[in-house]
Amino acid sequence: MSKTIFQKIADGELPAQIVYQDEHVVAFRDINPQAPTHVLIVPRKPIRNLASVTPEDAPLLGHLMVKAAEVARQLGLAESGWRMVFNSGPNAGEAVPHLHGHILGGRKMGWPPG
Ligand code: 5GP
Repeated sequence: MSKTIFQKIADGELPAQIVYQDEHVVAFRDINPQAPTHVLIVPRKPIRNLASVTPEDAPLLGHLMVKAAEVARQLGLAESGWRMVFNSGPNAGEAVPHLHGHILGGRKMGWPPG
């Protein structure tokens, strides 16, 4: 299967503004930010979306969430608050078939989401 854009970013084959990376996850700034701070965090493992995860992915997903919180803290969002979004499937607007959490902050957000 061909690599997704996000796998190429994780592998260093496409440029991105990386804000955090380790052996399991990579976090980088979204190319089309929807908030003053908009970072994507992805697993290096090519999982399509949240609907595709299996029980064996639980430690990886836990790690991803812990690192998302660390990234949000590092970027100064801890006090004002931030939102984590995973779009899964067509109705949610999933555009890139590689699991990614959106870390959004820096402005007041509405609910329900659009
Ligand atoms: P989705 O709609 O799949 O949840 O979100 C995909 C996100 O990836 C969008 O916010 C879009 O702006 C971002 N994106 C798409 N292509 C690239 C790229 O090449 N580089 C970066 N940094 N972000 C991208």
